[in-house]
Amino acid sequence: MQQYTEEQTQTADWIRSISEDSVHGIKQFYRTYIWTKKRQQILERDHNMCQICKKKGRYTRASTVHHMKHLKEYPELALTDDNLISLCSDCHEKVHPEKQYKPKGFRNLERW
Ligand SMILES: [Zn+2]
Ligand SMILES: [Zn+2]
Repeated sequence: MQQYTEEQTQTADWIRSISEDSVHGIKQFYRTYIWTKKRQQILERDHNMCQICKKKGRYTRASTVHHMKHLKEYPELALTDDNLISLCSDCHEKVHPEKQYKPKGFRNLERW
């Protein structure tokens, strides 16, 4: 079991309360000033580079800050630096298979 700090517990309470009050639900969090600031801080920490691409030796500009432990399940970690990582949109899509509703371009047909 993970122990949360008081600050993390308060963050979770805050996120739950803003999501209940909003038609945007949990996504309301991404509209808050606190997140905008945190996001900026993480991008700066990661030098605006996608951290997955970087591991592969590629340098791609990050466009998103991703919650490694997803916001919905772990609102406590919403603002915890260790849980946040800068990613490019391609890598971000790959870490969110659940978001891929759209059909993927052309599939390679198998050839016999
Ligand atoms: Zn990437
Ligand atoms: Zn994400």
